[in-house]
Amino acid sequence: VAERRCKVAIIGAGTAGLAAHAIARRHTDSLLLIEAGPHGTTCARVGCMPSKLLIAAADVRQHIDEAAGFGLQVAAVTVDREAVMRRVRALRDDFVAGVLQVVAAIPAEQRLEGSARFEGPGRLRVGELLVCTDSVIIATGSRPHIPAAYRGLGRRLLTSDDVFELPRLPESLAVIGGGVIGLELGQAMHRLGVRVRLFNRALTLGPQGDRRFGALATQLLGARLPCELGVEPTLGGEHDDGAELHWQRGGLPCTERFEYVLVAAGRRPALDALALPKAGVALDAAGLPCFDPCTMRCGDSAVFVAGDVDGLRPVLHDAAEDGRIAGENAARYPDIRAHQRRVRLEIAFTDPQFATVGQTLDSLPPEATAIGEVSFADQGRSRVIGRAAGMARLYGEHSSGKLVGAQLIGPAAEHLAHLLAWVMQRELTVNEILELPFYHPVIEEGLRSALKDLRHALLRGAPPRDECMDCGPGT
Ligand SMILES: Cc1cc2nc3c(=O)[nH]c(=O)nc-3n(C[C@H](O)[C@H](O)[C@H](O)COP(=O)(O)OP(=O)(O)OC[C@H]3O[C@@H](n4cnc5c(N)ncnc54)[C@H](O)[C@@H]3O)c2cc1C
Repeated sequence: VAERRCKVAIIGAGTAGLAAHAIARRHTDSLLLIEAGPHGTTCARVGCMPSKLLIAAADVRQHIDEAAGFGLQVAAVTVDREAVMRRVRALRDDFVAGVLQVVAAIPAEQRLEGSARFEGPGRLRVGELLVCTDSVIIATGSRPHIPAAYRGLGRRLLTSDDVFELPRLPESLAVIGGGVIGLELGQAMHRLGVRVRLFNRALTLGPQGDRRFGALATQLLGARLPCELGVEPTLGGEHDDGAELHWQRGGLPCTERFEYVLVAAGRRPALDALALPKAGVALDAAGLPCFDPCTMRCGDSAVFVAGDVDGLRPVLHDAAEDGRIAGENAARYPDIRAHQRRVRLEIAFTDPQFATVGQTLDSLPPEATAIGEVSFADQGRSRVIGRAAGMARLYGEHSSGKLVGAQLIGPAAEHLAHLLAWVMQRELTVNEILELPFYHPVIEEGLRSALKDLRHALLRGAPPRDECMDCGPGT
């Protein structure tokens, strides 16, 4: 068996693996980046970018549909179901090409094609090659989970890995799972004229962590997409015109046929090919490596994890940050440094968008936490642009007066969430945030109302009546 020695071996050339490589390279050239599949990253190939491209088409259609409400009559829209998917793929391919250029710029001797598995601590097998390394970074990402009930579906089964390869938008689509991926893709398809029905095992949709917030999110998202909540449909077989699903609604049997069934029932860390028990790291009850999120190191081993595979926060900027921390520590090993992690920031590109920033209410001690909120239903600018729905819930810490968490659903949530993440990262108090400038009339004024409400709650006072004299409450 041929042998290769290196200081750092990185398994997986996705966002986390590439970030790890870029940082580790500042310390050493003795690197090996091992990739089993096609290069291009989950984000660019089948994740963030193609999903946002599909949503962009749906947004345009939505704006046209809403034009009449502004007094603009637009002739009936025809969706060219092939052209929509062509644009998704064309731009997706551009984004993938960008990643491929990054990979091509890595010296050939630092790259290896093939699936890696552990033969022992510091020893990896890749095909016929044995890689002996001082440290290893596991950055193998995650894969769609397909529950057993749907595995027999055959050609009618889709996951996010293959939905963007459809040559045209389907006639009809059942979506299994009401998480972010199911909601984003299901809603975009629905708005593009596909007959969609989303099935969710839970009775709620959208983010968890604050019941009051969750109830409104479920109501708003459920009103914009045909949904069956608290339902797990059963397969009634495949027919020439689609797959049949059966379920109960209010005790009555329901049946519907769909051209495709998109299973969006969560993702699982891609660990199965790694022979992880041979890596010499402790595993938790779920078989995931135990690690320190400030160093990304597994116990006191020379193994590090980064990205979706760690099961912590399965979003892109965290995968990249994980990669940078793991890359630096693996290259410096055994001189490990702890890093302060950034504030949690998660955004769903649904309509309306929703976001979670910092801590959720259920993770905070009730007696030490104050809550402020605003409804976007009567917020001035939101009404002007025809997007008056939603709410922001902000959580403050009594002892410090700091903003420590937020959940929001409503207009421009992707932008509001960033503002909140930035002030939280800077550890500003609610008073300090309220000293910052707010223009008028903007959606951010809604945040200011929620902040004022939170300030009163922190003072344990009665909530203020916060009315803008020009455009009413909640501004
Ligand atoms: C539909 C969808 C939409 C998304 N939208 C967003 C979004 O809007 N915003 C956001 O922040 N995040 C989004 N995400 C999540 C984001 O894409 C991921 O968090 C991110 O891509 C994870 O990067 P990674 O490096 O951990 O994994 P990946 O990019 O998947 O890289 C892992 C790599 O490891 C390789 N590999 C696996 N096993 C082995 C092995 N044994 N040997 C060698 N190589 C191996 C794989 O082939 C793969 O290339 C979305 C995800 C999906 C699926």
